[in-house]
Amino acid sequence: MLDAIRRIVQEVSEAANLESALGIVVSRVRQALNADACSVFLVDRPAASHLLMATDGHDPAMVGRVRVAFGHGLISVVLSRGEPVNLEDAQGHPSHLCLAELNEAEFHAYLGVPIIHRREVVGVVVVRQRARRAFADTEEAFLITMAAQVASAIAHAQTNGEIDAMFAARGVIERSMSGVAGAPGIALGTAMVVYPAADLDAIPDRGIDDVEAEIAVFLRAVECVRTDIEGFSRHLDGLPQEDKALFDAYLMMLSGEGIVGRSLARIREGSWASAALRDTIREHARAFEAMEDPYLRERASDIRDLGRRILVALQSGTRRAPPYPERTILVGEEISATMLAEVPRDRLAGVVSVRGSSLSHVAILAHALGVPSVLGVEDFPVARVDYCEMVVDGYRGRVFISPNPTVKREYLRLAREEEELAAGLATLKDLPSVTADNVSVPLYVNTGLISDLVSAQQSGAQGIGLHRTEFPFMIRDRFPGEEEQRLVYRQILEAFAPQPVVIRTLDIGGDKSLPYFPIQEDNPFLGWRGIRITLDHPEFFVVQIRALLRASCNLGNLSILLPMISTLEEVDEACALIERTYEQVAADEKGIMRPRIGMMVEVPSAIFLMDEFARRVDFFSIGTNDLTQYLLAVDRNNPRVAGLYNALHPAVLRALKSIVDSARRNRKPVSVCGEMGGDPVAVLFLLGLGIDSLSMSVSSIPRVKWVIHRFTTSQAQFIAAQVLTLQTATAVREYLSEQLEANGLGALARLGRSVP
Ligand code: PEP
Ligand code: MG
Repeated sequence: MLDAIRRIVQEVSEAANLESALGIVVSRVRQALNADACSVFLVDRPAASHLLMATDGHDPAMVGRVRVAFGHGLISVVLSRGEPVNLEDAQGHPSHLCLAELNEAEFHAYLGVPIIHRREVVGVVVVRQRARRAFADTEEAFLITMAAQVASAIAHAQTNGEIDAMFAARGVIERSMSGVAGAPGIALGTAMVVYPAADLDAIPDRGIDDVEAEIAVFLRAVECVRTDIEGFSRHLDGLPQEDKALFDAYLMMLSGEGIVGRSLARIREGSWASAALRDTIREHARAFEAMEDPYLRERASDIRDLGRRILVALQSGTRRAPPYPERTILVGEEISATMLAEVPRDRLAGVVSVRGSSLSHVAILAHALGVPSVLGVEDFPVARVDYCEMVVDGYRGRVFISPNPTVKREYLRLAREEEELAAGLATLKDLPSVTADNVSVPLYVNTGLISDLVSAQQSGAQGIGLHRTEFPFMIRDRFPGEEEQRLVYRQILEAFAPQPVVIRTLDIGGDKSLPYFPIQEDNPFLGWRGIRITLDHPEFFVVQIRALLRASCNLGNLSILLPMISTLEEVDEACALIERTYEQVAADEKGIMRPRIGMMVEVPSAIFLMDEFARRVDFFSIGTNDLTQYLLAVDRNNPRVAGLYNALHPAVLRALKSIVDSARRNRKPVSVCGEMGGDPVAVLFLLGLGIDSLSMSVSSIPRVKWVIHRFTTSQAQFIAAQVLTLQTATAVREYLSEQLEANGLGALARLGRSVP
């Protein structure tokens, strides 16, 4: 047997890919154990089932088609125990399932062994015999050894998309795939695949006789595209002008010297317009693609999109709008903002793009429209999914193609539960946010786009607790000027006046950089970010502060929040700049009041300097997103360590207690504005700590208010004290969920956890 193991291990390690490795395992195992069939099943957690991946002895056409739902069959016993199941006659076992597709009625003996990678079962290998037969210990040990051989290959193939590609190649595309969560929400609908209108790469070289005529043709095409884009911008009516600024960037590209000027120069050199355009677009796109900065790399796709549109106009191709399904999930290799703008608003349900990131224009636009999106879904079988049913989970960045009934049911249930919960909670909207013993805990919203304002106003929130100012900077091709910024801030402050509005100064760096201000660093989250940049460039900082102060004229509801504070000097310098700017602006204009100044507590050093900070600022806002990443040394955007990122980690909770205690001791208000502030489970703990207020996305407001209504402060204090004795994040979530359940808030505890 040892020899057999050596040989198989050698063969498996030389296999070209996972599919052939599994093929080798099932056939060699079958031979070595003299069995009638050997199969490998994948544990497909998103689809809550086991999926047949390879077989020798059963019908190979069933690969990718046979699924056994979790909780069913002997395979689920292997999964839940994480141990082998060895039965002389499986037919008599209560969990035995007679799968007709695998002719299981004919088989008796059963040996199933889990395939375990890093303590998690990723698959199950099953050996079957028609006759009754007890597999020997040595045979069981052999199978365990084989399972270990393929464990890491399966785990890797799951993360790098190889499994998806394998099934796509077989035409079995009932798959779930992961990308980057773009805009939140869940959409069920029908895929509509959109392709670029024209292929620039297919344009041949060609000379011309009449340069002037060719120039006229080119300029006419450019004009045509300009009219289209102006039309798209109008078409998205309802979306504030500010949020449509990216179309202005397109128009700028058309009017600037760059694309048009370079193309004209090529035409003058004797090239026909299409090839001149092709070379110009390539040149520009390559220059952007070569850039380190992810935001700038994204701009290459805008340039190609624009190039294709000009080409269509050059070819005078009239494109008919495709028949968009009622609930369109727009799918493509590279969905551009203009492709999205072409879909009628009432038909667009979701967006899936193979390329792109959460910073793509299309992601920002989808967010503004409230359309769930998932981007960067590598190896997505675009060519095979046209008109397929699809589920887009914009919370988790997952896409389900032709979802199986379990997945569909679960998502429909989730969507319905969310709707019902929202309807049930609507009655809370106009009630104050007070605990059961009548202690007020104001709830504020987090905003970032002008289009967030309407829903924010309707949410029953008592103001804005965090307005992120990055978007207007990201969607332009230069720093917005003072007046441009003032107009944006004015709308935000007016929307809630006289209620408080907390506007955070520019927090670029980390994963957010500006196209016109590239920052290249090996370790951006520990680098030049937030206040560090703005203090190094007081010219940007002062313009923003001037715009904020002038925007607050006669309103008096502005608070300024400083991000990424790690030293006392940063606060001193920022406060001095704000004070100086205030004096200048107030001397020029009447009605300007001194703003309240607060700081984000999101860098661990701030926890230990709270007393000193409290003498310098008016309020604290805890950024639990960054605080968690910096305390746990886990990049908040790195999927590889996503399992380690947990705001309920006991160390984070103890840090929060220390921050809240210090703030209270110093009589300074403290709130939470990170994602944690919108998680009902975590809110129960924060309430018990004595948090003064919370700021969250609009959709979380009713749920959080419900939690606050249900508990008295002393109940919450008792619960928080218990939580602080717990040792793992899992134990914390379980305990808090039990408390919600015991108080009739089980729906909140379950929501978001029961999704497959
Ligand atoms: C945070 O870090 O928790 C926070 C609210 O800020 P951002 O997510 O914008 O970094
Ligand atoms: Mg932060």
